This record gives sequence, C-alpha cells and structure tokens, in this order.
Amino acid sequence: MNQKEFITNYDFKFKKKFGQNFLTDDNILNNIVKSADVDRDTLVIEIGCGAGALTKKIIEYTDMVIGYEIDETLKPILNTINANIIFDDFLKRDIKEDIKKYNYKKLYVIANLPYYITTPIINKIITDNLNVDKIVVMVQKEVGDRFSAKPNTKEYNSLTVFINYYFNVNKLFVVSKNVFIPKPNVDSIVICLNKKEEKLNVINEELFFKLIRDSFTQKRKTLKNNLKNYNFNIISEVLKENNYNDDVRAESLPLEMFVKISNRLS
Ligand code: SAM
Repeated sequence: MNQKEFITNYDFKFKKKFGQNFLTDDNILNNIVKSADVDRDTLVIEIGCGAGALTKKIIEYTDMVIGYEIDETLKPILNTINANIIFDDFLKRDIKEDIKKYNYKKLYVIANLPYYITTPIINKIITDNLNVDKIVVMVQKEVGDRFSAKPNTKEYNSLTVFINYYFNVNKLFVVSKNVFIPKPNVDSIVICLNKKEEKLNVINEELFFKLIRDSFTQKRKTLKNNLKNYNFNIISEVLKENNYNDDVRAESLPLEMFVKISNRLS
C-alpha cells in the first residue's frame, strides 16, 4: 500500500494541529536520504513518519531506524513498514532509553519535521545529549535561514548560537510547497547539520547556555538590560577587549563572544 492508496482507502483525515503535510515527490525523498549518506552502521531517528514515504527510503540504507509518530490513525500504513515505529510524542520520549539497545557507530536524525514544533525538537535533540552526528531535516524556509543566520540580521537568535556551537550548518535545497499534500502556506528547505569535530572550549556549558538564553530574552534590549542578574563589570571588560560597547545587543555578538563572556564569568 502506498501513501496515496492509504489516504483514499482509509479515508485519512489530515490533521493541521500535527503539522501534517506529506511529501509526495519521489525525487526529493530520494535526495534527502542520499544527501544524509546513511550506511549499515548508522542508526537513524525519524521524527514524524506520516504515511512512511521517507521511512521507506531510509530502510533501504540501514536496518536500524526508529520512527516517532504522534498520530495513531497512521498505524495501518506504518505497521506495514519494517522499522521500529513508536507511536508517541517525540518531545515526551526518553530518547536515550529508546536507542540504547542498538549497536550503532553513527547516529543521524532524518526528518520532514512538523513545523509547529521545529525549535522544541532541535532543542531536545541538543539538550538530551544524544551525541547526534548528523541531522538532515526539512524545515520551513524562514527557519532554515535562522539556523545559518549571521549576527546583526533579524534571523539571528539564541537557536542560531546553540546550533552553531554544536554543528556546521549547510543549506542543501529549497523545496516548493507544491510537492506536499495538503499544500502548506510556506516553502521549505532541507538543511544538513554536521557535528563539529572540535567544539569551542567552553568551561561551564550550563552557564554558557543560560547566558545565551538570557542574553536574547528581549531581543531589542541591550545585553546590559537582559543580563541584570550578572556581574556586568566582568562582561563589560570582555566587551571592551573585543571592541564592543556596553550598549551592544545580543544579536550583534557572534558565538565566540558568548564563549569568551561565559568563560570569564566561570
Ligand atoms: N515524514 C512524512 C513525510 O515526509 O511525508 C510526514 C511529515 S509531516 C510534515 C510531520 C509528521 O509529524 C506528521 O505525520 C505528524 O503527525 C507528525 N508529528 C507531529 N507532531 C509530532 C510529535 N510531537 N511527535 C511525533 N510525531 C509528530
């Protein structure tokens, strides 16, 4: 049974609240999986299997696939696919527990993400400390721009800084809204995040992450205003050494500056 037959035979109702826009273009599905470069030693996590169009492509390359799907009405089609599909909310899962029985060398995430929770999903992948080697995901085009945004642009935010600390970001290709059913309102982009072999030297990661989050609390406010609970004399010193004024905003600071500030505060 393919995606089309399932939708017709089972009278499947698309649920907007779950961000259900299924990809119908076989070439694009192939390109997503090919660009991830999966092999038999790779465990792949797919978030949001839908009717399994992408899942079916992934299992051509590896037997180790865990898919997450929140919508149980997709069981009749997903149960026909030879993959470990977990019908649950990805955001609530203990992923470390789910993956521990697999003997893998590389861990990848490949997905056409449900757009309404892109940021929480990426945050979870990062903060669960899964040590993911590569993430190849389709996201809303504007969100993809944020992943690779440069300081002083409106797209640059705390997520940009987090992602660039862990990963090298590559934009792979833009995908038209016309290749989905139902057709979404926005265009999409496939992004590849490759784990950085050498991360920047952060003395206290907990403090570093908190500093980034706090610095961007109110984007239009200066760093000084957002960081009222910090010792700003120390921060001011670091800013001056790097030719920034005290009235700088977080959106002007590159990742390296957050590292320098947090290391000096540590
Ligand atoms: N992979 C399919 C494809 O490419 O055609 C479907 C992609 S669709 C954009 C996103 C899928 O994520 C939907 O099937 C939706 O039900 C599922 N989903 C939404 N929220 C989820 C969650 N919290 N956990 C797991 N799956 C979720």
